[in-house]
Amino acid sequence: MRVTFLGTGSAMPTGERFQTGIVVEDDGRRLLVDCGSGVLQRLQQSGVGYENVSTVLLTHHHLDHVADLLPLLKARWLAGEEHLEVVGPSGTKAFLDDLLSVYDYLDGRVDLRVREVGAREFSVAGFDVEGFETRHSMPCLAYRLGDEFTFSGDSEAFSGLANFADGCAVLAHDCSFPDEVDVSNHPTPGQLGEALSGADIGRVYLTHLYPHTDGKHEAMLNSIGDRYDGDVRFAEDLLSVEL
Ligand SMILES: [Zn+2]
Ligand SMILES: [Zn+2]
Repeated sequence: MRVTFLGTGSAMPTGERFQTGIVVEDDGRRLLVDCGSGVLQRLQQSGVGYENVSTVLLTHHHLDHVADLLPLLKARWLAGEEHLEVVGPSGTKAFLDDLLSVYDYLDGRVDLRVREVGAREFSVAGFDVEGFETRHSMPCLAYRLGDEFTFSGDSEAFSGLANFADGCAVLAHDCSFPDEVDVSNHPTPGQLGEALSGADIGRVYLTHLYPHTDGKHEAMLNSIGDRYDGDVRFAEDLLSVEL
């Protein structure tokens, strides 16, 4: 399995990190998880290509996770690709209907299939996936793909989510802000270290980084390390990890 971070930023630009998107590839199968602003460009830069991604799995419907969804649909239509499947939490069907009622010239251009999933096991693009409800300001699902990869989506850090990822080779976890920012709905490094303490995870990548984290990486890693002694690194756009 190969996991490529397309966007490791958030709703406020850093100038270097695009919004959330991760592409997972395994044995000819490809799955795009989230499709925030800039992800369509990163898909091209990564060599994966928008023509080769026909399934998008959404964690939730915040703009920084869906902004490039219709641009992806349009690019696929213009390239002659005929299908797109969008899978996401409850409300995804109504969300897509609403988007296409605004951009109605895109409606019906590709065979769009929309499926809603929840905190359970399901299959998407040939991957066996399990969903888990996170703690965020709107309903959001974390996803686990076998023993290889877990993505937190947007979430506060809590032991339930750490347990959900326990035993995984790689966990990509929201770490939006440094400790000095008072925040809810996202974790700080101190909170993340506490939640992860005792978890058995091969490597943790920090993502969903706000500009507030610029220049604070070392302090953030030290803060996590106060409670959690595992391998923790910062994700970067276009970083590829082989599992
Ligand atoms: Zn969010
Ligand atoms: Zn977000």
